[in-house]
Amino acid sequence: MAQPISFVIARQNRLLAKLPHDDIQAMLPYSQHVRLGLSEGIFESGQPLEYAYFPTKGLLSIVRQMHDGDMIEVAALGTDGGVGTQVLLGQRMLPYRCFVQIEGSAIRVGIDTLRELATQRSTFQQYLLRYHSSLTIQIMQNAACNGLHSIATRCCRWLLIARDRIDSEEIHLTHEYLGHMLGVRRAGVTEVLRELRELGLINYTRGHITLLDPAALEEKACECYRVIAEEFAWLDVG
Ligand SMILES: [Zn+2]
Repeated sequence: MAQPISFVIARQNRLLAKLPHDDIQAMLPYSQHVRLGLSEGIFESGQPLEYAYFPTKGLLSIVRQMHDGDMIEVAALGTDGGVGTQVLLGQRMLPYRCFVQIEGSAIRVGIDTLRELATQRSTFQQYLLRYHSSLTIQIMQNAACNGLHSIATRCCRWLLIARDRIDSEEIHLTHEYLGHMLGVRRAGVTEVLRELRELGLINYTRGHITLLDPAALEEKACECYRVIAEEFAWLDVG
């Protein structure tokens, strides 16, 4: 039999931590605390969603894969939120894939349970929809960013967003994956990372990037980092 999930664990997710005590108390008996394995699929393009996930550690990427295999990230999320909130708007399938970018753990709850709880509890519904709106703004900002900003400034934005989502300056990620996330070739990413390392802003070894000077990295990032960070700031208020 699964162990009951403690409030301390659930509150490692900043969105769940915002929920009133009785809302989270109502959800936890129907939830599991699951491991998120590297590259594990959370949902697949065009497949009905079965569970909502609220990460307590790690990073999830929502990506669009084109017919030729090219892939670009449309949103990244971690302890700041969850996937599955679109069901509250009647959407059970998305034309996107979501997978584990950095391994960790999550609170998992069935989609039907999530929807039922949202119907019964207005504050629960309100917070989840508020989050869904912030996620949509992140996706829209990323679309503008991908079309208008340089690889270097987008790379800085991505590293800072990932840092905020996993709450760590150590990011386990290969150049190749970072290229996929930004929709550019590996060589372009390697060049940018080398430049950032020469400036003393980051360090990297194979599959591992360390942010040495996040403040300077923020100066180098495009404005999109701040727009996204400010959009999610409500999670830390109160
Ligand atoms: Zn940008």
